[in-house]
Amino acid sequence: MLTMRGHHIWCTMLFEGKGYDSGFTSSMGSVVGQLRGDLSQGVRIIADYDDICSRCPNRCDKSPDLCENRRVAEKDREIIKLLGLSEGEEYSYNRLISLVKEKVTEEIFTSSCGNCLWYTSGVCSYDKLVRAGERGNR
Ligand code: SF4
Ligand code: SF4
Repeated sequence: MLTMRGHHIWCTMLFEGKGYDSGFTSSMGSVVGQLRGDLSQGVRIIADYDDICSRCPNRCDKSPDLCENRRVAEKDREIIKLLGLSEGEEYSYNRLISLVKEKVTEEIFTSSCGNCLWYTSGVCSYDKLVRAGERGNR
């Protein structure tokens, strides 16, 4: 079963083939492809390094300045709480998308993502998140 940190729920909804390096992008593409190929599959929600982080060049143990895992984990926990989820529990990816559609406002999204380089570069936006939710992330 896949593990997914809280904020990666919407990162996976918005992924469009861009990443930190080719290894990471390929690995994330594989995870996202798996999810989009079977939206009913189970995902364990966590607030720590997950399957997407596994190939990331910015992990604290590889590049301490770029991913402040402790701060990111706080963001994950805020999102887990917002969506009414429990850390360590399993949910279908479908259900997670439905909760994002139901509970994430533009203000919440901007507050969570406003400083991320994928937001400031225009790759991610609230409008794209809404569209991804409407089409069931396909
Ligand atoms: S802006 Fe960053 S944190 Fe937000 S969904 Fe995009 S990649 Fe993820
Ligand atoms: S930047 Fe941090 S949270 Fe994001 S994928 Fe890399 S290790 Fe994971």
